[in-house]
Amino acid sequence: MKKALINIDYTNDFVASDGALTAGEPGQAIHDTVLKLTKEMFEAGDYIVFAIDKHEAGDDYHPETTLFPPHNEAGSKGRHLYGDLEEYYQKIKDEKTVYYTDKTRYSAFQGTDLEIKLRERDIKELHLVGVCTDICILHTAVDAYNKGFKIVIHQDAVASFNQIGHDWSLTHFTNTLGATVL
Ligand code: ZN
Repeated sequence: MKKALINIDYTNDFVASDGALTAGEPGQAIHDTVLKLTKEMFEAGDYIVFAIDKHEAGDDYHPETTLFPPHNEAGSKGRHLYGDLEEYYQKIKDEKTVYYTDKTRYSAFQGTDLEIKLRERDIKELHLVGVCTDICILHTAVDAYNKGFKIVIHQDAVASFNQIGHDWSLTHFTNTLGATVL
């Protein structure tokens, strides 16, 4: 079965200690695994997607404006990928099997052409890594479920600032979305 890795929001703002909306240590702890899985799947010829939150400064209409502090603003360093993932992305970004998409909502499918990219490549299995387990990973997984994709969650490659939300999400992925949690 053709596979894609969906690398979600692993940016400075969501992971670094001084990030605007950081998952902090749990987010930093998955760095090596996120990087390793990205390398392994790229080298295996799988489709590598970076689905990265993007906000415009002073956007009064976005629903997150009243929920969270400003984060992942266009052109900011906070929006760069965290740690060695940025360097690796720069190395592989021009390859045909690598796709970077901005997203403006929690789900990587909402308002993006991700589904078209996956369907035209006949990809049926999605591996999700990044942050936050109970927000953007969860919403992407719910959409993937409704669209009929097989879902694989790498437990050591997802994290959240909310441990309860993280733990609940892992059971939800398995029991309700039929995902394989590795
Ligand atoms: Zn956001």
